[in-house]
Amino acid sequence: MSEISIKFPDGNVKKFDQSASAKDVAKSISISLAKKAVSAKLDGQLVDYEAPLNHDGAIEIVTADSEDGLKVLRQSAALLLKSVLKSKYPEIRFGESSADDEGFYVDTDKDDGQVSVDQLEELASDIAKVVKAGESIEREVVDKKEALKRVDGDPYQTQLINEQANDEVVFYKVAGNSVLGDGVQLPNLKSLKHFKLLSVAGAYWEGKSSNPMLQRIYGTAFNSDADLQADLKRRQEARERDHRVIGNDLDLFFVDPKVGAGLPYWMPNGATIRRTIERYIIDKEVNNGYQHVYTPVLANLNLYKQSGHWDHYREDMFPPMDMGEGEELELRPMNCPSHIQIYNHHIRSYRELPLRIAELGMMHRYEKSGALSGLQRVREMTLNDGHTFVAPDQIQDEFKKILNLMVDVYHDFDINDYTFRLSYRDPENTEKYFDDDEMWNKAQEMLKAAMDDLGLNYVEAEGEAAFYGPKLDVQTKTAMGNEETLSTIQLDFMLPERFDLHYVGSDGEEHRPVMIHRGLVSTMERFVAYLTEIYKGAFPTWLAPKQVTIIPVSEEKHGDYAEGLRKEMAAAGIRVDVDRRGEKMNYLIRDAQTHKVPYTVVVGDAEVSDSSVSVRKYGEQDSISKSSADFLKQVLDDVASYSRE
Ligand code: ATP
Ligand code: ZN
Repeated sequence: MSEISIKFPDGNVKKFDQSASAKDVAKSISISLAKKAVSAKLDGQLVDYEAPLNHDGAIEIVTADSEDGLKVLRQSAALLLKSVLKSKYPEIRFGESSADDEGFYVDTDKDDGQVSVDQLEELASDIAKVVKAGESIEREVVDKKEALKRVDGDPYQTQLINEQANDEVVFYKVAGNSVLGDGVQLPNLKSLKHFKLLSVAGAYWEGKSSNPMLQRIYGTAFNSDADLQADLKRRQEARERDHRVIGNDLDLFFVDPKVGAGLPYWMPNGATIRRTIERYIIDKEVNNGYQHVYTPVLANLNLYKQSGHWDHYREDMFPPMDMGEGEELELRPMNCPSHIQIYNHHIRSYRELPLRIAELGMMHRYEKSGALSGLQRVREMTLNDGHTFVAPDQIQDEFKKILNLMVDVYHDFDINDYTFRLSYRDPENTEKYFDDDEMWNKAQEMLKAAMDDLGLNYVEAEGEAAFYGPKLDVQTKTAMGNEETLSTIQLDFMLPERFDLHYVGSDGEEHRPVMIHRGLVSTMERFVAYLTEIYKGAFPTWLAPKQVTIIPVSEEKHGDYAEGLRKEMAAAGIRVDVDRRGEKMNYLIRDAQTHKVPYTVVVGDAEVSDSSVSVRKYGEQDSISKSSADFLKQVLDDVASYSRE
């Protein structure tokens, strides 16, 4: 029998019998290691612990508590899930399955209705039974012909087998079912005690919307109950903040991939929040010297050729529309060229600078479908955009003004958890950027000096600049833990060149302005997603879609009083409703809390007789009685305060 050479992490090489398994190799190191291990990596590839290694290679033993160990554990959980599903539904078909540091999933397909979330508990108990019975996993290697026979016409598994490069197809047999292998398995199932089936969701086969929609079952598994519970708690917290979940619960928006992935529909509640933000931001900007404009989302493609977007940004742009006779129209991916048209429409004088053009500008970007997420990353978005045109010696002052305005706006929205990032060009790779060393050095220093002057903390990131200039980004975190840019201020020396922008200086000569691009609160989409997450759906009164719910104890006796109150409050600009459903009082109060309405008001005999209200504020346990006039004033003050208590 021939031998194989196995290289250890310390560089030693040892010979083993060809039939030796990773377990045999682990044993040769130490018995205790062999016990703790669940798998190994041979030349970086996970292998089944007790299967023959068969060839030379460098080995790393994988223990249960390592990241790879957890992956193997979760692959076995996925395998067991498939096995119990097969016992229950012999005709079930399996798409992809996968396991990683977030958990595992199995894609399933069934003719008589997909697996539903109500069935997860029963499936989990079936898995637990298999584990408890001490079942083992048996590994079998068969050729493709036999493999195809085993999957019995399942179109997805048939495709997976046909796509496999070699003729050795691995199956695992457990609990009486032979399942096509999709990842290395645990040597025994004893450690598969702490798992949870989490949720189900539709997923297209191969991620393509033209393919059938399968049902994806999500789960996770850990080595200890404490780890599992900690993870479930983390998931629950993230879920409570996830704007997609809250957006659905509070009926803020929806996205329907069948109508258009990444193209959100704003429901009345979400639209109210957005409209309030838009009005706020326009007022704020107008008060700070910005001139608001409206410009078209479509322009001749030549505009984006001139701006450089067509060369540098094409991947993110929708394809041009061929209108015939050589005319091509393009959906804009950014508003800058539009605002440049506004600047260039008149001859500009130094007296007009800084000239601040702003717009809630709709733009379209063809983001990858896998990157789309609720309102947070979309394909049609409206940016709180602004471009200021300044003389070179005004850059620093204007930058500070923008930053102060931004901090002011953040304060109004009670945004506190963010970091500043100064993004420079990559000094090793300068050819990627607009070519003007002096400009880059000067501009970068200027930004840094301005930040230092303001006494703000920041991180510096080389290589994160835009191709036309350095920028300041404001970084925040989503509920799912991803870092995202919310606001940005960018210096640009390039577009003024490309569009040959001028102003007439005090010397009567033509000079080149510098452009500062700035998005104060990002796109309406990303901003509302972000706010939803930081407020956990409990929007402060000024933003809440519904600010007050009035519940009459009896519609007959107190309905008129409630309606009078509603009219008075609505006339004062408050978003208020009377809940006339006539359900049990406790139910109606709880429902208003679930919908996170800032004020829930109950009116009964006592309130009618002395023109008062019984008010409960969101998040508080007790109701307080006050005159209806005082209550109206309280809500108006709260709306005007622009900050949470
Ligand atoms: P990102 O790196 O997040 O893709 P970017 O650097 O391409 O953004 P800019 O061109 O500076 O973004 O756009 C301005 C702002 O618009 C960004 O800071 C971000 O907050 C927001 N934004 C960008 N792309 C999207 C999108 N697909 N969906 C929602 N908001 C977006
Ligand atoms: Zn711009």
